[in-house]
Amino acid sequence: MQGKCLCGEVEFVVSGTLPNLYQCHCSLCRKATGSAANAALIAPSGNFQWVCGQEHIASYVGNNGYRSDFCSKCGSPLPNPLKGRAEYWIPAGLLEDNANLQIAAHLHVGSKASWDVIASSGVQYREAPDLDSLLKVLRENADAQPS
Ligand SMILES: [Zn+2]
Ligand SMILES: [Zn+2]
Repeated sequence: MQGKCLCGEVEFVVSGTLPNLYQCHCSLCRKATGSAANAALIAPSGNFQWVCGQEHIASYVGNNGYRSDFCSKCGSPLPNPLKGRAEYWIPAGLLEDNANLQIAAHLHVGSKASWDVIASSGVQYREAPDLDSLLKVLRENADAQPS
């Protein structure tokens, strides 16, 4: 599966069976995306590879540890490695082919924007489960997808 930013300078590939997506509706993800929620997937680092454009990756890390990497040319959010883990966080909207992807979890629905109407698919969490529990939920039924 190929992915690229808005201007196309930064490209990457994700191999293997892709897990399902999650959306985070928290206030930080709203700021980072300018939208209702962040839609992303989390893949093993071994399945992730940059193709080109790494010199355009800029990074913002807030006082609370919230990290957002983005393309310095076009501002698209970009994948980044999860701190202390062997996984990459990957913005779903960058993927070139998303026919078989679906949202399996919604995080921080307790603090969503008042105008945010959440789709009916996926488990809804008031806050967020721990990462390993979330990864388990995202992998359920993902194996059934044609890759
Ligand atoms: Zn770009
Ligand atoms: Zn969030």
